[in-house]
Amino acid sequence: MGFEQLQSLDNWLDWEESWLAPYAMRSRASRGRRYPEPAHPYRTPYQRDRERIVHSSAFRRMTGKTQVLVASVNDHHRTRLTHTLEVTQVARTVARRLRLNEDLTEAIALAHDIGHPPFGHAGEQILNECLRGMGGFNHNLYGLRRVDELEERYPEFPGLNLTAEIREAFVCHGRQNDGPDAAEFSDLGRPLLEAQVVDLVDSIVYNTHDIDDALGLGFISLEELSEIELWNEAAEVVRSQYGLLNATAFRTAVIRELLSRQVTDVLQETSLRLQAERIRTLEDVRHARVPLVGMSPRMEARKQALEQFLHDRVYRHHRVLRMTANGKRILGALFAEYVRCPELLPDRHFWRWAGADAVAGPRRSPILPRRKLVPEIERVVGDYLAGMTDRYAQQEHRRLFYPTIDL
Ligand code: MG
Repeated sequence: MGFEQLQSLDNWLDWEESWLAPYAMRSRASRGRRYPEPAHPYRTPYQRDRERIVHSSAFRRMTGKTQVLVASVNDHHRTRLTHTLEVTQVARTVARRLRLNEDLTEAIALAHDIGHPPFGHAGEQILNECLRGMGGFNHNLYGLRRVDELEERYPEFPGLNLTAEIREAFVCHGRQNDGPDAAEFSDLGRPLLEAQVVDLVDSIVYNTHDIDDALGLGFISLEELSEIELWNEAAEVVRSQYGLLNATAFRTAVIRELLSRQVTDVLQETSLRLQAERIRTLEDVRHARVPLVGMSPRMEARKQALEQFLHDRVYRHHRVLRMTANGKRILGALFAEYVRCPELLPDRHFWRWAGADAVAGPRRSPILPRRKLVPEIERVVGDYLAGMTDRYAQQEHRRLFYPTIDL
């Protein structure tokens, strides 16, 4: 096979037809982009989307955003970005085994947390409070607006102009398909299998790595974990395989076993459901009676017990609560100050609100083209804050409120 044939797009698309399961999403079946574009000579639409996401500024900023612990606490625990990479890796494994579209799965996984504000769920809560009465704040819908409008990378169109299947995943990920922002996705039926895989893998991965991080930071002990059935089963496998290990080697091996048990269970249970529900086509997936990607009832119960433990002992640990309370204070104070005095906003955010009509005055050169609908100041400030990293929000707070001349 010559170089040109190897590299041609048709070659890839034919490969999808021959390799993927009949219920997988194919590039040829895509509902396309909001702004039509010519096909790339050798990359499928989902391969292109994956690369657009990785090159976006929202993706890079996940490196400085809280997963559970504020990103600057130490250099070992997970950030939003490393969490995303773990989810992507596991989701690709599951997709490949089920013969789903791995490129689409990868793109959905890489984008799934792109809309998270700084300081994790605490950041989301405070922004939701600040924007109450104006539609509130939700990280999935913000993620969709981020890739549809707020990223500025192409002269031809706003945002990243991603395919409909990746945009849809933002809405189904949070099951937010009833609001006006999500209206175009409201009658699609069940999410694609590729999106269902990312959704379930996300929770498996964060449960597992949050246990690992909490142990590493001393928030919980190995003894406390012996209350948890899923932990005990995995620990037993490690003990019988390796005998006595030191604490760090033991922890790492149990975490690996925890992940692998759950992923294997998902593969088995999902294959069973696909057979039992006689899923043969994409239409069957859309109209399925039950979610098709799932865990056995036995494993599901164990996973829920682990989640309850995390909720009680880790997410409500006083050190986590202090970090998140401070994060909320920082974002709440910044929000109030920018809304009170929009002139303190950096140019591109100021001009989103002021529009091109406000050229009179000292601040010239609007960066964005004039918009038909100028957003409310609260929404502009909310979008600015949601795009910040933890560190940048802390710096802005110092710049605005500390009695020093630090610009
Ligand atoms: Mg996630």
